[in-house]
Amino acid sequence: MIVDTHCHLDMLTPLSLHAEIDSARRYLTMSTGVQNWHTVSNLCGTHANVFAALGIHPWFVASQPADAISSLQRLLDQNRPTALGEIGLDFSSAHIAQRHEQLRVFEAQLVLAKEYALPVSLHVIKAHAQMLALLKRYRPAGVVHSLGASTELAQQYIDLGLKIGVNSLVVRDNARRYHQLVTHFGVEAIVLESDAPNIVLPGAKSGHLYDIDATIARIAQLSGMHNDDVISLTEHNAQQIFHFS
Ligand SMILES: [Zn+2]
Repeated sequence: MIVDTHCHLDMLTPLSLHAEIDSARRYLTMSTGVQNWHTVSNLCGTHANVFAALGIHPWFVASQPADAISSLQRLLDQNRPTALGEIGLDFSSAHIAQRHEQLRVFEAQLVLAKEYALPVSLHVIKAHAQMLALLKRYRPAGVVHSLGASTELAQQYIDLGLKIGVNSLVVRDNARRYHQLVTHFGVEAIVLESDAPNIVLPGAKSGHLYDIDATIARIAQLSGMHNDDVISLTEHNAQQIFHFS
């Protein structure tokens, strides 16, 4: 079964969600903060194959109410999600000003991940040293979503037991780093994700859930495997982390 471990179903129009969602696949849909926790939980409640990740995305730390972490904890008590996500650190120029707030909010969520034994879906841009230090302290299970890093850096995440989330960025012919991660670590280290609708295939106008098919084909080609083996190995990896049931 194809498992999309990182998508944003609430960002699709109801029409494209209806057209694109496939009952034979699983989706772990992300939230970004208090603004969409209910929408994401409802999507999970109305679709048997949709699973929810709740959390505060680093881009949204400044716009959260002061009690956002305790609100999140209350939700975890009421109706435990499959994972915490999308959480992490983003120290790129557009978001570096909130670095202290990001570190505070991210660490608070790692504490929750530990307390509730929940896996995490991680966003990390230009903050690997800080991220790795926190992961070593809290040791969550999880996935580094859309990791674009050297094999040396990726190895440190893998040594912590995390998987690498690969999306359709790997389809691009010039995406050497993404190709290298696949060829160096193999499908054993990977889970699939669409990150729909945020990532757009070369030549396309928008991102879709079914772009994951092109990602599977590219991973199969890079690793000399059949598509079906890529699907079953990555499903196994995703199941080990997220325990879908
Ligand atoms: Zn995302």
